[in-house]
Amino acid sequence: MTQIIDLKVRPDYIGHYKNKYPLITKDAIMNPEALSKEGKLIHLVDGNSNFLGKGYYGKQNKGLGWVLSFDESEKIDSIFFKNKILTAINKRLSYYKDESTTAFRIFNGEGDGIGGLTIDYFDGYYLLSWYSEGIYSFKEKVIHVLDELGDYKAIYEKKRFDTKGQYMDDDDFVKGERSEFPIIIKENGINYAVYLNDGAMVGIFLDQRDVRQAIHEKYAKGKQVLNTFSYTGAFSVAASLGGATKTTSVDLAKRSKSKTIEQFSVNGIDFEQQDIIVMDVFDYFKYAKRKEMKFDLVVLDPPSFARSKKHTFSTAKNYPDLIKDTLAILEKNGIIVASTNNASFGMKKFKSFIDKGFKEMKVTYKILEEYSLPTDFQVNRNFNQGNYLKVVIVQKVN
Ligand code: SAH
Repeated sequence: MTQIIDLKVRPDYIGHYKNKYPLITKDAIMNPEALSKEGKLIHLVDGNSNFLGKGYYGKQNKGLGWVLSFDESEKIDSIFFKNKILTAINKRLSYYKDESTTAFRIFNGEGDGIGGLTIDYFDGYYLLSWYSEGIYSFKEKVIHVLDELGDYKAIYEKKRFDTKGQYMDDDDFVKGERSEFPIIIKENGINYAVYLNDGAMVGIFLDQRDVRQAIHEKYAKGKQVLNTFSYTGAFSVAASLGGATKTTSVDLAKRSKSKTIEQFSVNGIDFEQQDIIVMDVFDYFKYAKRKEMKFDLVVLDPPSFARSKKHTFSTAKNYPDLIKDTLAILEKNGIIVASTNNASFGMKKFKSFIDKGFKEMKVTYKILEEYSLPTDFQVNRNFNQGNYLKVVIVQKVN
């Protein structure tokens, strides 16, 4: 029998777990020294050894692991994993049926009942992302479920935890038939090139699907579009196909240029009619202002933290400045798509950053729309941090 470790929960945290909070945080546990090897099953108990929850040990950011069940009689075994994954897939049936979208998330960590694991589906390929060594120890069980489902081309994986260099020459392939990359996936009819074997990021962030669709269908037509922190230019592609007069994509990373050319090309768009600029966004704002350039639609999608040679940017501190820089080059009645994936603050706070930027420039605005995670990124209602994506579409009024 496998030995289960009892973790004692501090009195002031007992209420959290009674309310089904899924993350086992360091500060909630009185005896973290009892933890030995990642992947071990644990029981959360109160001071009188009463059961509160069961889960696994796996270090991830501020957590020591995740609660998998609040039911003392439920076993954490192959059947548990199978049930969770099948339930999750059943919630995504509408995505499987939609032929115009072939890439979506089928399992979203704690939102689907197993923190630390996500599974994305890319047109017949599975991508597993493991966020701790602990959850990685359940790999065989997860793969077994996918094998039983059958009918996939290949499985790839990302180990998003410190592997201490152990997997240096790994190309993330797990099993099936090795593919040539890129594969071309579809999203609402638009093509995107995806690489499952080339580092942490695959070429597209699936969580922005609804925002790309909004830009494509509602906001781009006849507009001069500026896409900042553009990465592979996915927003620019959506805008261009949505009828934008021209798109300008700006990203600091050198490879963003060839990646963006590729995304335009797989959609038959002449990239030479678009601007793709490798530059620090903050320098670009200055340049555009000096040249008196104006844009009708500006997408702001910075990473939570960014450090370049000249600037340090943190969404929590500098978002108002980003709005101010944008307002200096925004056309009359121009629109800003303001996005952040920073989990440390909520929508209300984010809107206050946007408001501050406008107020300081003495510009009035109205909010047109708000977006959060799409429905395939299922969230756990007892874990707000999991609901990280916040997008506000605002229009300058004058
Ligand atoms: N908006 C993109 C994803 C952005 S990922 C999409 O929807 O696909 C964040 C990007 O910001 C990365 O590509 C990174 O290279 C870029 N970046 C970070 N700091 C930057 C800076 N100061 N100027 C320009 N780009 C920056």
